[in-house]
Amino acid sequence: MTQKKNRVPIPDDVAAEILFLSNRTCCICTIPGKPIQIHHIDENPGNNDLDNLAVLCLDCHNDTMLNGGFGRKLNSSQIKLFKLEWLKRVQGRKKEADYTASIKTVVESLPIQEYVDYKGQNKLDILVKYLNNIVVIHKAQQVIANTKWEADTTLAMKQRSYHMIDFYEEVLRELATFYPPNHFTVSPSRYFSELTSSRYSLHWLISEPYGAGTGGTIVGVTSAASVKHDLKLLVESIGWSLIYRFQLEGVNPKWSEQWLETE
Ligand SMILES: [Zn+2]
Repeated sequence: MTQKKNRVPIPDDVAAEILFLSNRTCCICTIPGKPIQIHHIDENPGNNDLDNLAVLCLDCHNDTMLNGGFGRKLNSSQIKLFKLEWLKRVQGRKKEADYTASIKTVVESLPIQEYVDYKGQNKLDILVKYLNNIVVIHKAQQVIANTKWEADTTLAMKQRSYHMIDFYEEVLRELATFYPPNHFTVSPSRYFSELTSSRYSLHWLISEPYGAGTGGTIVGVTSAASVKHDLKLLVESIGWSLIYRFQLEGVNPKWSEQWLETE
């Protein structure tokens, strides 16, 4: 007789943590935008340890439930490996984008003649410098993405978009620091990470009017491109809000034009 395993709901903060660490993306196929669920690696639904949880899409989750067959069943040690690998990649990408878009990097990036210590500056002066310099970094990031993944394959096209999406997400996060604390109720990182994944889901859904799975591999490419576009526009909107609200002077009048012209 097998012992009955009791399902204990995953505490909200633990669920939020594993979703954030995984970029709300299945750790097996790593395709963003697919409907996901949190899987208990040891198959004990009462064990809600962070170590025991993995984000899986419904397709990959089905692969954990295959019985018999020819070894297609995903077992717990395989899932653990996939999870570790994916969390590492997500973290690496976030770190890289975080550095590139950070206020400190951006404000100090250009050989400004009147170089002033970042820490000694007025917050709004920093914002002006950030907005003026981020357009240049933006162009550079697009060049890096194009060079790193220059092939004409769907994978390369997706990678180019992912690179820019990570970058935009970090720019949004940095701009959010000019709002009062707790303005976004959750941390800006979490807020914009959730926003990105809900945008993925939306574009994925609207790309498949014949039903889930009918759009083929191109849906991943077009969804990523659409999310990229959304986030780019969002940076522009937030930029303008801050310029108007704080009545910032010294922002290049062509700021948003230059921001938008980078494809
Ligand atoms: Zn999957």
